Amino acid sequence: MSFIAELSERMPQRVHAPGTPEYEAGAAVFAGSGTPDVVVRPASAAEVAEAVRAAVAAGAPIAVKSGGHGSAPVTGGLVIDLSALNAVELADDGSRLVHVGGGAHWGDVAAALTPHGLVVTSGDTTDVGVGGLALGGGLGWFARTHGLTVDLLREVELVTAAGEVLQVNADSHPELFWALRGGGGNFGVVTRFTFEAQPVDGLVGGHVRFDQSDVRAVVGAWRDVFRDGPDELNSTLLVMPPLMPEMPAGPQMSVALVGSEDDLRRLLEPLLSLPSVADVSLGPVAYPDLLEAAPPGEPPFRFVGGNGFVPDLSDAALDVFVSALDREVPTMLLLRALGGAFSRVPTDATAVAHRDGRALVAVNGILPADATDDQVAAARAGVDEAIAFTSGAYSNFSPEFGDDVTAIYPPATLDRLRAVKREIDPGDVFRASHHIAP
Ligand SMILES: Cc1cc2nc3c(=O)[nH]c(=O)nc-3n(C[C@H](O)[C@H](O)[C@H](O)COP(=O)(O)OP(=O)(O)OC[C@H]3O[C@@H](n4cnc5c(N)ncnc54)[C@H](O)[C@@H]3O)c2cc1C
Repeated sequence: MSFIAELSERMPQRVHAPGTPEYEAGAAVFAGSGTPDVVVRPASAAEVAEAVRAAVAAGAPIAVKSGGHGSAPVTGGLVIDLSALNAVELADDGSRLVHVGGGAHWGDVAAALTPHGLVVTSGDTTDVGVGGLALGGGLGWFARTHGLTVDLLREVELVTAAGEVLQVNADSHPELFWALRGGGGNFGVVTRFTFEAQPVDGLVGGHVRFDQSDVRAVVGAWRDVFRDGPDELNSTLLVMPPLMPEMPAGPQMSVALVGSEDDLRRLLEPLLSLPSVADVSLGPVAYPDLLEAAPPGEPPFRFVGGNGFVPDLSDAALDVFVSALDREVPTMLLLRALGGAFSRVPTDATAVAHRDGRALVAVNGILPADATDDQVAAARAGVDEAIAFTSGAYSNFSPEFGDDVTAIYPPATLDRLRAVKREIDPGDVFRASHHIAP
């Protein structure tokens, strides 16, 4: 009997064959639709373990899906779709511990915690999955205030390649817990995350848009504000090329401060007084309002990108980043303010080692979906020139999946991750998007 027939017999309501809506949903990721042999949508860690054991025994490849925003569509094998494991439960003992299912979305977490005045650092998009973002590090709102998502992680429930269910924390499995904080989905299926949510007393923020008349002045003022600003101030600065009429070109800052609106406007004064300010929308916000929905479907563009951490946003580095915008290929520049709590975590405390970054810089050449090889090469050259001013890379922003993870993990981190992988998954059952081989 095939493993699919066997699983269908044991948990018929969880196993979905081609042609069913559950199969279509499980086979689809942000980047397109795959053609796995079967989709399993488990409702408990025990059911995940059953699916893993059956696929491993049959030698079938396993793909794990949380939000689907960080993986390529798969061909053949089994997709474990975690969408039914999406509960968000705040402990009622005052500990601020929140248990989050491995298939929940960050919008669910923000909505559940906001009435309690609590947050967990997350990305800035509602429908990105908790699973992929958290296992890769988790960079977003509150990174300067409370660190990365993984810095707030206290325990995970993990289904291993052997089909065991482990409760993994710093005391029970120190090395495995270290690896799970940044090492991606290479070590098993996380069915439940436990984070220590943080109190937020007064949140203000919003957006400031600038015209394109002096991008360098905006980027320089942004750098100064965030170099000297308090940990409670978080921001990204996105500079868009002219692409489509509905997408405004030029710098757009998203910002949030745990504090008052007066303080926010005072801190941002060097930016708000620039002559290129085109639109200011700042005021009290609830955390869910800071998160945006991902654009639906596959974008009509091909992105050629790179990213890296910058310990010192020197004038020379800013000149290079801004000049990347002047190339023939339309190019997008993203700066995320770091430092603060993010940088106070020791380099070897988690698998996200680039803790000296004062900013994360991402540069993306934007090409038509049917770009020629020459166009791709031209875009790549521009991106590489700018990224040469950075060090390392952030896994969740690294769009090229595969076995080369040397930009993401420094050699000592990668050696340590491989040692954990050899221990917990020697047969390389879990081949995450950024794959750590045993
Ligand atoms: C629109 C958009 C906005 C984004 N914004 C941010 C941001 O603000 N900050 C940021 O840090 N990143 C951001 N990202 C990147 C995002 O964090 C990664 O793409 C991440 O991998 C997405 O997670 P997912 O669960 O949605 O993806 P998936 O494709 O489901 O998973 C990604 C990888 O993680 C593995 N995985 C997922 N869940 C589990 C689990 N429970 N157990 C084991 N393995 C698992 C998968 O197998 C796969 O290898 C953004 C991406 C997009 C598309």
